[in-house]
Amino acid sequence: MTSRRTALALCAALLAASAGCQQASPAHGFLLRYETPAAADEDDAALLRTRKPAERALAALNAYLDVPAPVTVVARSCAGEGTGYDPAAHRIELCYDDLEEERELLGDEEAVAAVTTETVYHEAGHALIDALGLPVASDRAEEDAADRFAAFMLIREGPQGERALRTAAEEYRLSGAGQGHDEHAPPADRAAAHLCLLFGAAPERHPDLADRTRGCTPDWTTVHDAWTRDLAPLLRHHEPGRGGR
Ligand SMILES: [Zn+2]
Repeated sequence: MTSRRTALALCAALLAASAGCQQASPAHGFLLRYETPAAADEDDAALLRTRKPAERALAALNAYLDVPAPVTVVARSCAGEGTGYDPAAHRIELCYDDLEEERELLGDEEAVAAVTTETVYHEAGHALIDALGLPVASDRAEEDAADRFAAFMLIREGPQGERALRTAAEEYRLSGAGQGHDEHAPPADRAAAHLCLLFGAAPERHPDLADRTRGCTPDWTTVHDAWTRDLAPLLRHHEPGRGGR
């Protein structure tokens, strides 16, 4: 007889490899659920299901971090309410209808998927700030920390993640004009911070960013070390310092 423990271990291995085993895995860490989309959002829901940016992000998070309480990512039609983290429910709402705007800006499904990965990491950053009880001085400070977490996770992925980070920065740049004020930094500043971290982490792969990022903040080594320190209680295994990689 196959024990539950063996089944779970197998499932964990599969989950790490392909994010394909949610049903059998215990309620633990980051989980993903799809709701039926509204008719107008069907293409965007299909993009998420085929390109699997959320599955990829959650597999990387769960392989890296052992989050004791479940955080559920619910892909759903939000009727313009906007993607966000709900601390009361420990739930990230990932809105199909947000993808429509990104499609218009980027005009390319692969780019939309890349931006969605960054979005999932950003919201996961909020969930981790909540789970770890990390102090944040203001709403803006929390948003900046969540952006830095998204960059940190994408940079950890290597060249593929770095490309997604550039795409996300491009999307912020394109969306910059005419945006209302909210708790986030202005889109142009968010783009600049992403590119600053990217060049700081991997200058050899992004030499074209040298001029644009001269004297920029935040500093990659500081961000890498701060997030690594803050995540310490949840890390599955310790990694050697990678500042200045
Ligand atoms: Zn946010």
